[in-house]
Amino acid sequence: MRVLILGGTGEAAELAAKVANIQGIEVISSLAGRTREPSIPLGDFRVGGFGGVAGLAEYLHQMNINLLIDATHPFATQMALNGADAAIRVNIPRLKLMRPPWKAVNGDRWLEVDNIKSAASVLENQSKRVFLTIGRQEIGTFAHLNQIWFLMRMIDPPEQNALVPPGVFLCDRGPFLLENEREILIQHRIDTIVSKNSGGVATYAKIIAARELKLQVVMVKRPPVPPGEQVTDVDAAVTWLLQHSHG
Ligand code: NAP
Repeated sequence: MRVLILGGTGEAAELAAKVANIQGIEVISSLAGRTREPSIPLGDFRVGGFGGVAGLAEYLHQMNINLLIDATHPFATQMALNGADAAIRVNIPRLKLMRPPWKAVNGDRWLEVDNIKSAASVLENQSKRVFLTIGRQEIGTFAHLNQIWFLMRMIDPPEQNALVPPGVFLCDRGPFLLENEREILIQHRIDTIVSKNSGGVATYAKIIAARELKLQVVMVKRPPVPPGEQVTDVDAAVTWLLQHSHG
């Protein structure tokens, strides 16, 4: 039995580590290659795009993959769609492993928006100093907001000629601690955080810190995922694998 895990998340790495100990299942993890020094999962792995649905279907076929687990980030929409289509083409079972979204609790001041573009629009009239925590790929969407100062957190700095908003970069990788997040918000006199609703614990501390300091959070809602089997934690994904490997 050979399983391909579409990765790039903590859950994908955790799953690869658990499956590596199961006899009779071989695991290959796939990373997009976006970060310069990715966290390398346990077991076999490959890096880089497949070349769309056709490329992925070809890979699944060539490598005799029996099962596909899409454990990519909830905002990796293209990869999720490609995974779903390719699994249908080569007729193998596919599972989506996706952590639950965060839910606003008492004291949270969230403004939920549908996408990154809407997040940029709502900042225009209400924010002066923004903590932008959406990664580096889409920061260009905020580049026209000249009246706002941005603290932009991302793993690697943007490309040299990339369009970026005014402000400074903070290159760091989660998990982030509450006391550090609190300090960042206070030190930079942040009034608004922009975040994707990624879910999970690794990047949740900024949401708690914002609640404590009564700051606004512009929360980008999750995009829809392709229909199909879905679980929210690693153990449930392992159970799914075991069921399919005996069947
Ligand atoms: P995306 O927009 O959905 O995918 C764009 C293209 O990148 C895909 O069509 C595919 O290229 C390639 N790709 C994406 N994930 C891949 C993977 N795991 N293995 C091989 N190729 C992959 O993806 P994205 O939002 O840029 O995310 C890229 C990676 O970063 C993913 O692994 C994701 O889990 C991780 N990540 C994303 C976010 C986020 O906010 N989007 C946050 C944290 C981590 P081809 O069409 O050529 O196959």
